[in-house]
Amino acid sequence: MAWTFSGVLLDGFAGERVVAGTGEPEELPGRYALAGLVDAHAHPTVAADEHGPYLADREHGTGRLEEYAASGVTVIRDAGGLSPVSLGFARTAAAGHPAVTAAGRFLAPRHRYFPRMHSPVAPDELAAAVRAEVAAGALWVKIIGDFPEWGEDGPVPQSTAATYDLGTLRQAVGAAHAAGARVAVHSTLPDSGLVGIGADSIEHGTALGHRELDVLGTRGGAWTPTLCAVLQGRDSPDPAVRRRADELRERLRDGLPYAVAHGVRVLAGTDVVGTIADEIALLAGHGLSARQAIAAAGSHARDFLGIHPEGDIVTYDADPLEDPGVLASPAAVVVRGVRVR
Ligand SMILES: [Zn+2]
Repeated sequence: MAWTFSGVLLDGFAGERVVAGTGEPEELPGRYALAGLVDAHAHPTVAADEHGPYLADREHGTGRLEEYAASGVTVIRDAGGLSPVSLGFARTAAAGHPAVTAAGRFLAPRHRYFPRMHSPVAPDELAAAVRAEVAAGALWVKIIGDFPEWGEDGPVPQSTAATYDLGTLRQAVGAAHAAGARVAVHSTLPDSGLVGIGADSIEHGTALGHRELDVLGTRGGAWTPTLCAVLQGRDSPDPAVRRRADELRERLRDGLPYAVAHGVRVLAGTDVVGTIADEIALLAGHGLSARQAIAAAGSHARDFLGIHPEGDIVTYDADPLEDPGVLASPAAVVVRGVRVR
């Protein structure tokens, strides 16, 4: 089927009329359209149970990719997971699944990440582990830059600290770049130095200050604030948790527009919570305009990731620039010519 659309094209979607796929033409429902949405921080192979997150299997990952597609997500950056499966998804995009670029395994030392999510990587093994992931096909590598200490009974309170020293990280970033891959770093501490090691993308970045954003923006680096994940406490019944979330929201309302104004590519990423529609609405609620928030999950993300698939289109009955909430219910989704909704 050749899916056609002739309503209002948004977010730099070029042309006046879109045709996706080949064969008999059929007009898609909806009045507004985007060229697909991008989830720049997703974990298709990660599942969670009462003990927290764990690495699942290919079947789980396939199911998640179908859910992403149905929600209008046509491109994913897999920010860490079950490496052989993630890299397999990246190598071969199945019909109707989002295009995937993947980071392979989570790189973190012993006791500094969710125990079921990684095999520990000692500091003197980090650069080699990076090279191995890239050799296996990873175009990104994911380094956990700070994390709570993980004891017998879970995270030790107030123990969040750097995982590797900056020299080790700089070497690892150099190894990735030399092999042609880019680096995403999980970062939640203030003035951590993680922006200075040359990482291409800061994940979460809840404590990024203006000085770090200046440096990141100057070299065209990205920040994926994963608001669905980091603001989970915003509706907590515990007032102390809500207060911490409110403080973070204040910082984000300052930092996000500052970042955009200073050249940082802010990207939308759902992590393992929420939906791309929620994430865009949160970006729009924390200092970005609706247009900027949609671009963070659209044209800006595709440009930064260097992925521009043909034949992706997501349509809506109402204008998402007026109300990003409409992104939660696409009228139709076509992924590389295949209609999945
Ligand atoms: Zn994540």
